Amino acid sequence: MFKCKNCKSVDKFELMLSPDYQGKGNFSQKINDRDEIIMNVDGYEFVPDLDFMNNHAVCRYCGSIGKWECFYPKFHKK
Ligand SMILES: [Zn+2]
Repeated sequence: MFKCKNCKSVDKFELMLSPDYQGKGNFSQKINDRDEIIMNVDGYEFVPDLDFMNNHAVCRYCGSIGKWECFYPKFHKK
């Protein structure tokens, strides 16, 4: 999972697809049991890394670009 360093929201993002991307850009996401996001873009599933996020994901909450850090809720429980 990914947390915005600016507004602290978790996994609130939109993808910026390349302007020359040819597909429809249908995008969905789910979380696996290791708290990793699995993205699905037009049927292609992958686990984004931090580098991908900081290049392609915009915070839906505050609009920040490139402000993501990894976040694992299991390690944050008290
Ligand atoms: Zn944010």
